[in-house]
Amino acid sequence: MVVAATVSPEPIVGKVQPLPRDAPGMERVTVGRFKSRLLTYRKQPAKSRNIGARVCGHLCGSRGGVRGGRKRATIIGGRTVLEALIFDVDGTLAETERDGHRPAFNQAFREAGLPFQWDEETYGRLLKVTGGKERIRRFLAERPDCSALTDADIARLHRRKTELYTAWVQSGAVRLRPGVRRLIREAKALGLKLAIATTTSPDNVDALLARAGLSDAFDVVGAGDVVPRKKPAPDIYAYVLDRLGVRPDEAIAFEDSENGLIAGVMAGLRVVVTPSHYTRGEHFDRAWALVTDLGEPDRPGFDVRTGEPVVVDVGWLKQKLTQGMQN
Ligand SMILES: [Mg+2]
Repeated sequence: MVVAATVSPEPIVGKVQPLPRDAPGMERVTVGRFKSRLLTYRKQPAKSRNIGARVCGHLCGSRGGVRGGRKRATIIGGRTVLEALIFDVDGTLAETERDGHRPAFNQAFREAGLPFQWDEETYGRLLKVTGGKERIRRFLAERPDCSALTDADIARLHRRKTELYTAWVQSGAVRLRPGVRRLIREAKALGLKLAIATTTSPDNVDALLARAGLSDAFDVVGAGDVVPRKKPAPDIYAYVLDRLGVRPDEAIAFEDSENGLIAGVMAGLRVVVTPSHYTRGEHFDRAWALVTDLGEPDRPGFDVRTGEPVVVDVGWLKQKLTQGMQN
């Protein structure tokens, strides 16, 4: 049996078409030779597999496939295809911690007659703890001089803080960071899937997206207590990827903190980090990209590692993906 195949410079898209036996550039590949090539291809490092991927794509007539119930990596012309962008919320979409959450916590403490306020330094330290209720609990554990609060007290306090926060957001006091709205709208227009992966309260997310006019932009919103373990556990990313129906290597995550970066990396994602007001001193060695912000065409951000000006758009992300496959 003879199988016709060609090594084409074009990306392989859609169903395989039968090739004429004498087509220019065609070589004949017996099934035995193909299996031998496939074995050789599989033994190669991933970055060397471009030609093999094309030949395999032709012969299998497939852009991906299913094995063991999970979708396999989508490779077109040796490049991983970008299917989805996943965004953290606090610090990534907006400086919510600085402009919204800390003032709201302090207002809730005042209203409850509690004898403490969180200054910048205290709040920066508490941000290592993920989740508002968990932060209050940690603070009280460190301050035996403060009155003890029950879980019900903490839950009530946190509900009031959320009311205050959402009211601030709805008033426009918390604005999106540079480039966020631009990138989301561009990705949406190009047909990419979009998701939120955060453990902040769903009410907080809804308020921010509504105020920004982005309520309908996201295909999946993973927020609140939908998973038991918060970042740096990868659970929220696993939850969102499952609902999007994409593999980790087909998506890019956006984070501002070390905890978020660890969560994304542990979920198998490439992570773009845009450090925020409270996270600038954290460690981001494992970030796929590290930029001051996403930037706007008239006011770019900067690549922290190279100092180069950067405007993060879909083209920039795809180019970086391609470079990564070639290196
Ligand atoms: Mg964050």
